Amino acid sequence: MTKYIFTTGGVISSLGKGIASASIGKILESRGFKIALVKLDPYINVDPGTMNPFQHGEVYVTDDGAETDLDLGHYERFTDAKTTKFSNATTGQVYNAVISRERRGDYLGKTIQVIPHITNEIKDRVKKAAHASGADIVIVEIGGTVGDIESLPFVEAARQFRIDTGYHDTLYVHLTLIPFVKSAGEIKTKPTQHSVGKLREIGIQPDILICRTEKPLSDEIKEKISLFCNVKKEAVIEAPDAETIYQVPLIFKDQHLDKIVLDHFQMRAKTTDLKDWRKKVVEKALHPKHRITVAVVGKYIGLQDAYKSIYESLHHAGIHNDTKVIFKKVDSEDIEKGGADKFLSDVSGILVPGGFGYRGIEGKIATIRYARENNIPFLGLCLGMQCAVIEFARNKCGLKDANSTEFKLKAKHPIISLLEEQRGIKDMGGTMRLGAYPCKIKKGTLARKVYGKERISERHRHRYEFNNKYRALLTKKGMVFSGTYPEKNLIEIVEIKDHPYFIAVQYHPEFKSKPDKAHPLFRDFIKASLKVGALL
Ligand code: GLN
Repeated sequence: MTKYIFTTGGVISSLGKGIASASIGKILESRGFKIALVKLDPYINVDPGTMNPFQHGEVYVTDDGAETDLDLGHYERFTDAKTTKFSNATTGQVYNAVISRERRGDYLGKTIQVIPHITNEIKDRVKKAAHASGADIVIVEIGGTVGDIESLPFVEAARQFRIDTGYHDTLYVHLTLIPFVKSAGEIKTKPTQHSVGKLREIGIQPDILICRTEKPLSDEIKEKISLFCNVKKEAVIEAPDAETIYQVPLIFKDQHLDKIVLDHFQMRAKTTDLKDWRKKVVEKALHPKHRITVAVVGKYIGLQDAYKSIYESLHHAGIHNDTKVIFKKVDSEDIEKGGADKFLSDVSGILVPGGFGYRGIEGKIATIRYARENNIPFLGLCLGMQCAVIEFARNKCGLKDANSTEFKLKAKHPIISLLEEQRGIKDMGGTMRLGAYPCKIKKGTLARKVYGKERISERHRHRYEFNNKYRALLTKKGMVFSGTYPEKNLIEIVEIKDHPYFIAVQYHPEFKSKPDKAHPLFRDFIKASLKVGALL
């Protein structure tokens, strides 16, 4: 019998519901349960794939090729749960399914309504995710803030779940904010009381409150929250700002959150102390021996969430190398205006992430040239790889007009061009080359050394590819094409000889890094950067 936990958020957004849900997953997984995590997003887009990163942040890609919410990245980094296309559902998907069914005549003339048709579709999707994963416990995070109009059907579906499954098989966790009011010198519980009140209006009485707070919660405050919100005192969990997000499972564990959940579910399990996580992740993250600065040169550096998995992967690589990695976030358009030297002369490594469209491209190309010529470790991801190839063609092979047809349709040297399978595609949503593909790595290359094996699988999200017509020329000039997708001979990895670490990949390794198992490309990038020196 599967158990369900619904996580809602109150008072304000950005409280870290994704991290809280993933952390609950982590502590329950450590007790020996198989868990799955699902994110329900109240927006009308079918998926975030067509949204601007400034609107939504990173689009996280699953192995099976779904473009999903970035919280799924937290789920995979904190736990062993595998995310799939069932792990994220949006209002757009739910309505799409219901309306298609209505058009087919499947409802046999009935009036289609939010309750029960939309709520049934939401519940079916959660159950499908549970079934597909075979999990003992499914954690369902509801996006948005309680009280929003658009999240109502999801919260209502969560309410119905307890009726469907029985009291002890569904649990409600509410994440809330306890603000500190400086002028009064006090922390305030009123917003939480109101937020829980909003939940009760719908018919949900939370079982656990996770209280985000700047100041410690006294016993008295916990008692007050317990009394006004009708939640047991021990289920009022304090969640202070953590120095690293990987501390959050320990903070929950120390307050016996796992016990409270398992008691509700009437489940028994072995006890654990998360010793490995504490020692190999948190302690190492908090007490690094070295510090280095690495530049991330992109278009969306103003938004913390736009390159979420990349920053996390660099952090993991830092943990592996006992190093605090300081990010220097550089807007590639600033490099166009001020020159690479102005922004990059004090960094030990340079990373150019993925992206779309021409804006900022010349700055990325200038950045890569700087890394190549000055022997600074370089890691290029997706568009970063395409720019690395363009740079090499222009500056080492004399192809001045080398470009991607994404930026210049009639480029004289279309070094990067549209994938064959993309020709004729008109719809923008969900039509890229998406998800996991195998890659074969050549012997004797840097990539082979880094991965330590011949066959790998990595996740993709792109429409353009390296144009194999230029392979012989670029090889002659010193570029190594070390990894390919064998079935179609697509280039997946390029590198440069006689450079301390210059490697660029068509895929997104950042989606597969974990705090206790840094991705090898990031791990060795930071290792190489450390050799350049701790410059800060
Ligand atoms: N815009 C490029 C393409 O579509 C790169 C995509 C990316 O970086 N994710 O191929």
